[in-house]
Amino acid sequence: MVSAAAKVNLALEVLSRRADGYHEIVTVMQAVDLSDRLTLEDAPAIEVRTSALDVPTDERNLAYRAAAVLREAAKVEHGVRITLDKRIPVAAGLGGGSTDAAAVLAGLNRMWGLEWPSERLEELAVGLGMDVPFFLRGGAALGTGRGERLTSIRSSVLALVLVNPRFPVSTAETYGRVTPAMYTDGGRARAVAGALGGRGAGRVAASLYNGLELAARGAYPQLAQMEAALTAAGALGAMMSGSGPTVFGVARSFEQARQIRTRVARGAWECWAVRTLRGPAIRIRAGAAR
Ligand code: ATP
Repeated sequence: MVSAAAKVNLALEVLSRRADGYHEIVTVMQAVDLSDRLTLEDAPAIEVRTSALDVPTDERNLAYRAAAVLREAAKVEHGVRITLDKRIPVAAGLGGGSTDAAAVLAGLNRMWGLEWPSERLEELAVGLGMDVPFFLRGGAALGTGRGERLTSIRSSVLALVLVNPRFPVSTAETYGRVTPAMYTDGGRARAVAGALGGRGAGRVAASLYNGLELAARGAYPQLAQMEAALTAAGALGAMMSGSGPTVFGVARSFEQARQIRTRVARGAWECWAVRTLRGPAIRIRAGAAR
């Protein structure tokens, strides 16, 4: 079994739009302990199975694509049956598909006996999606460029509450709403990166920033409602993650995060109390990669 953790963006700034259509960003990504579970088994072809209704099982699935590109690049003839237990909400701003792809790269590297170093896996990862290299590292990292150029950050463990409104938002749609008035210079994200190593959650909570939230707020009034509920329940600060629509609040302790979760939870919203991870986002458990 391979577990594949989600991420939140403690900061995300859009700097400009590039000639290739992507945006230049500066972001602080942080792995959190809400994880999908994947089982990898030897099979004649690449195959994905999942009970999640909103997740494709063909080559549109990032886990499938990860297996296909690694098989091609490593010139192996094996297939793999990937059974995907989705726990991370889909199209949520938590990087669910990207972490699954990283889990398949790391798991098959072991299962197929490739022994590729992490730099070589990272090169393949970036072709699958800008967030995939981050998940191969885990912990916390400052991402620049399209978010794929990474510098790891030393961080202390934070307790967070995630709130998802149970509807998906496409990343492309949110980026499509960005206007030049929303561009910033990257200083806010660097301040969050600096605050992360310190003790106490207060400084991090006070410096959270997401430029994409300005783009998403007009379309989704629930974002402001979820954040207001988090701060009313005691969160030190609240912000949207990635391209949304999941928002998170920063708590003083895991115990307080659980209390906030109980106060905020209601029918329309799904909530989790989580801890941030200082170690890897992808964990291969014994017997996982046979
Ligand atoms: P990000 O934060 O990286 O923008 P996200 O968390 O918002 O990503 P995902 O959960 O990765 O978004 O899903 C985006 C789309 O990708 C979904 O609509 C889904 O159809 C498709 N998809 C492909 N592979 C997967 C996967 N393994 N898990 C979930 N969704 C997947």
